[in-house]
Amino acid sequence: MKIHEYQAKETLKKFNVPVQEGIAIKNLNELDNAIAQLQQRGINQFVVKSQIHAGGRGKGKLYNPSNRNELILDGGVKFTTSVDKAKEFAQKILGNLLVTHQTGPEGKIVKTLFITEGLDYKKELYLGILLDRAVSKNVIMVSIEGGVEIEKVAEETPEKIIKEWVDPSVGLQAYQARRLAFALNLEGNAFKSFLPFIKSLYTAYEQTDASLLEINPLIITNDDRVVALDAKMNFDDNAIYRHPEIAAYRDLNEEDPLEIEASKFNLNYIKLDGNVGCMVNGAGLAMATMDIIKLAGGEPANFLDVGGGANKQTVASGFKIILSDKNVKAILINIFGGIVRCDRVAQGVIDAAKEMHVKVPIVVRLEGTNAKEAGVLLKESGLHFEVAESFSDAAKKVTSVLKK
Ligand code: GDP
Ligand code: MG
Repeated sequence: MKIHEYQAKETLKKFNVPVQEGIAIKNLNELDNAIAQLQQRGINQFVVKSQIHAGGRGKGKLYNPSNRNELILDGGVKFTTSVDKAKEFAQKILGNLLVTHQTGPEGKIVKTLFITEGLDYKKELYLGILLDRAVSKNVIMVSIEGGVEIEKVAEETPEKIIKEWVDPSVGLQAYQARRLAFALNLEGNAFKSFLPFIKSLYTAYEQTDASLLEINPLIITNDDRVVALDAKMNFDDNAIYRHPEIAAYRDLNEEDPLEIEASKFNLNYIKLDGNVGCMVNGAGLAMATMDIIKLAGGEPANFLDVGGGANKQTVASGFKIILSDKNVKAILINIFGGIVRCDRVAQGVIDAAKEMHVKVPIVVRLEGTNAKEAGVLLKESGLHFEVAESFSDAAKKVTSVLKK
């Protein structure tokens, strides 16, 4: 699960990680009050920050959502020393469409603003913590190349990323924190402040069951403080139940509506850009199905694993979700009846297809328990299904119906 920057900073603050003071607002009528509150705390430099679940906001552009050619503002993160400018930026950002290299051309409407204290700083660094699955340890990565796209640094100058792996049985060691501080060329007070900083940050990552914690940039202020200027946190969905305060951060505005619908039925659905909808049981079979669709010249419209225990209802809901994707021009159902019985799946498909008045061709491959009975049901349903004999036959059939 992803959360917004202001929520990540709220979380980090609880672990004593230094972040800028800030106030999140969802409506422009909260703006004056938010700025007044910051001023009362002695703040006279402001950063107005778009809150969307995507990075690259600083370099992004804001457009009028009803006329995407009308540029409203260059940059989704704005620093200013003027209260009037801060208000102007807020007005230009909230409710408009922010396009960044991470949102894709469709962009994201900004529904929340984070107004923070603006800091002067002398260094922008990079820091990331995530799980390195290859060695089953968390890895802390730092680089003096902060503020820019770290993917670019990783590709072009990987030697500029220094890594420290944390042994889960002993946790982050003091010598590792010092090694990271040296790698960042820190000295004096900045060096000293970095040690408790990384300790608190690592604790926050571990105790919240985060799967990613990225601070880009991590800054060294002119007075040698270490502050998280930006914060991105992702969490392990399987551990969210242990953190109700994080679960409450979920922002459905930021999620794909079809994925939200799927999560209500415990379906593992991920929307993709292609035109062949697929419904499969088992993640491995689903991945293989997507591969074989591509191999046959098609493009999968989604990943959908209806699960091993799929019943008539889950099948029907999965089917409806696939059909609500307007790009879907054909559907491939590939089910192996192990625990689930093929005839039940077939009945679910038939019921849903009838209810939804499906217009697109459906290719079905059912194999395993009660596959024969399923075949009979499909044939006698009065609906038109293309029944495939094998895996490759299914992929060929689905791509050939697309060409018709
Ligand atoms: P991102 O573009 O989505 O990664 O958003 P960031 O939170 O990283 O902010 C983008 C950029 O805005 C930063 O790299 C800084 O250049 C600038 N910025 C953000 N906050 C401040 C601040 O307090 N002071 C100054 N001087 N610049 C800031
Ligand atoms: Mg950033």
